[in-house]
Amino acid sequence: MQFITAPFCSQCGLPLEIDLGEGAICGDCATGQNHFSRIQSVFVYNDTSKDLVLKLKHGDAHYGAPTYAQWMVQAQNDLLDSDSLLVPVPLHWTRLFCRCYNQSQILAKEISALRPNLQYIPDMLQRTRATARQGQLSKDQRYQNLKGSIKVHPRKKTLIKGKRIVLIDDVMTSGATMNVCAKALLKAGATDVNGLTLGRVTRT
Ligand SMILES: [Zn+2]
Repeated sequence: MQFITAPFCSQCGLPLEIDLGEGAICGDCATGQNHFSRIQSVFVYNDTSKDLVLKLKHGDAHYGAPTYAQWMVQAQNDLLDSDSLLVPVPLHWTRLFCRCYNQSQILAKEISALRPNLQYIPDMLQRTRATARQGQLSKDQRYQNLKGSIKVHPRKKTLIKGKRIVLIDDVMTSGATMNVCAKALLKAGATDVNGLTLGRVTRT
């Protein structure tokens, strides 16, 4: 297990090879195209941690979820101390049907148990259509694949205005999903959108 410690990009949380000082960002974030403000991940998604994440995703290893949630809270304590809304990245219902649960929702629920000051809204975001699996896609293809696929629940819109959001997901790959979610939430009136994930792919 390779837990993520400083130095890392102050925006997307990508581990950096050299310490460029406080507030340093990675080359990708320097393009200024992110909709999210800050993302933090607990560990690098590698052969060791992959097993753990896949168990959470496809197996019945829910017993690990409280521990993972604790790690996530420790990784981004300051953001979780505010009165943010806790929102899981949604899974399309067709996938929900196959897998029977959403691993991001499981993590978000466990985090909300540890941080009762946060308002947990499991259905804030909805997928409007099923999207192709993103595993083999390039970053541009991921954005194309996700375009317009996530929207804010019409009945939850009133809760967003002026609020800070913490998005929860199991693994961050290119950041495309986080960006699409953040864009929809900002459009609905959120003041700022941050993210917290368990795993982080460092090579895309
Ligand atoms: Zn970055």
